[in-house]
Amino acid sequence: MMQQENKQSNIVIIGAGPAGSYTARHLAMLGIKTDVYEEHHKIGLPSHCAGHISIHSLKKLGYYPLPKGIIENTFNAANFYSPSGTKFSIHLKKPVTCALNRTKFDQYIADQAKQAGATFHVGSTVKSLQIENNYVKGVNLQDNNTIIPSKITIDAEGISSRLLRQTKLGGLDRKGLVYAVETEIDQVHDVEPHAVEVYMGSSAPGFYAWLIPRPDGTAKLGLATNHGNPQNYLKNLMTKHPVAKKQVKGAKIITTNYHAIPLAGPISQAYSNGFLAVGDVASQVKPTTGGGVIFGLTCGKIAADVAKTALDLGDVSAKTLSLYQKRCNAALNFDVTFMLRLRRFLNSLSDERWDSVLRFCNRFGVGRALSDVEEIDYQGRMMMHVATKPAMIAALGYFGLLYLFANP
Ligand SMILES: Cc1cc2nc3c(=O)[nH]c(=O)nc-3n(C[C@H](O)[C@H](O)[C@H](O)COP(=O)(O)OP(=O)(O)OC[C@H]3O[C@@H](n4cnc5c(N)ncnc54)[C@H](O)[C@@H]3O)c2cc1C
Repeated sequence: MMQQENKQSNIVIIGAGPAGSYTARHLAMLGIKTDVYEEHHKIGLPSHCAGHISIHSLKKLGYYPLPKGIIENTFNAANFYSPSGTKFSIHLKKPVTCALNRTKFDQYIADQAKQAGATFHVGSTVKSLQIENNYVKGVNLQDNNTIIPSKITIDAEGISSRLLRQTKLGGLDRKGLVYAVETEIDQVHDVEPHAVEVYMGSSAPGFYAWLIPRPDGTAKLGLATNHGNPQNYLKNLMTKHPVAKKQVKGAKIITTNYHAIPLAGPISQAYSNGFLAVGDVASQVKPTTGGGVIFGLTCGKIAADVAKTALDLGDVSAKTLSLYQKRCNAALNFDVTFMLRLRRFLNSLSDERWDSVLRFCNRFGVGRALSDVEEIDYQGRMMMHVATKPAMIAALGYFGLLYLFANP
């Protein structure tokens, strides 16, 4: 028999990933009693993420600089390779991205949320949503069959989307998922200390592979694909790719994690009566790079503000909470539309085309044209910023033609 807990929580959040904890922090700062339920016993573990994040966006969210140990490296360069080894490099005037230790970063956000007054319940799995008269009224916990009532439930469960499906909003678009393997390796060779290595084309069909070096000579190495076994692609990359195999020669894999990434763009409705969805569960992820931390945090803050408005009005209906969707759309949709097109274009390129695209970028100085870029999360806006430079006009014309051929 289910037991009802007597303390009503104003807000229950499912999941203490970055999206859930950041939302909790903002709710607590607004003075709202907030309880976060996390199935794992330790926040931030297991970590499945490369943690490669734009410094500009972290600054905007108040997360740069960060306490010692969270930032593992900073980057002012990226090298792109076709499967045959053709290389194109971008060197920026100053560091634009950094690699975070995701475990420490997640714990840091959760600690801030706790300091602001949120309560975290770790090792506590939410079994299902409590739905009455078409309203989400709280959650049912797995361990002790307890119902935790809440005025608004915020789903930040990540990619699983099991609880989201219970609301009838529909789950994530399975066709838009790529399947990733993320490893840590004990040594890399012949890499620039502040450059990210990116391997395109059939090295990782439907996405790309990455190598992110650390100052101590170790690195994060991973990839995602839209078909096949990512582990097999990783093995091929490490043993057959003309550049990568030299960079990782003799390296041992220390840890391996598997996880999916949603690339289809945000779901069209991330709210219902008494309910909001934030982060990966709502597919708030960049379709080009799979980066979800910045979009998840951005929407988490919006969710907290809208929840506060709804609680103040005493109206948690879908109509009131639809403001969340409007604000998230305003923040993300322009760039996501651009990135969805770009992803479709990138997926259409054969390996031979990758050779010619990267050679074109070298010949026309596209790297130089991009050298003062700072904003890499909002890629539609970034493109508007650089599109007037001669090299970019040539590149856009060339890529436009390729796009038209690929998508008649
Ligand atoms: C291989 C890989 C590399 C990536 N690299 C980057 C990168 O470089 N940069 C970037 O920005 N993004 C990256 N991402 C994406 C990024 O990891 C996600 O977008 C981000 O973690 C989403 O945060 P979240 O809080 O929505 O979900 P999550 O981080 O997945 O957190 C969800 C939390 O909910 C908990 N949970 C789930 N179900 C329940 C339940 N029923 N009850 C209680 N708790 C539950 C989980 O245990 C988890 O802690 C990468 C993803 C992958 C797979």
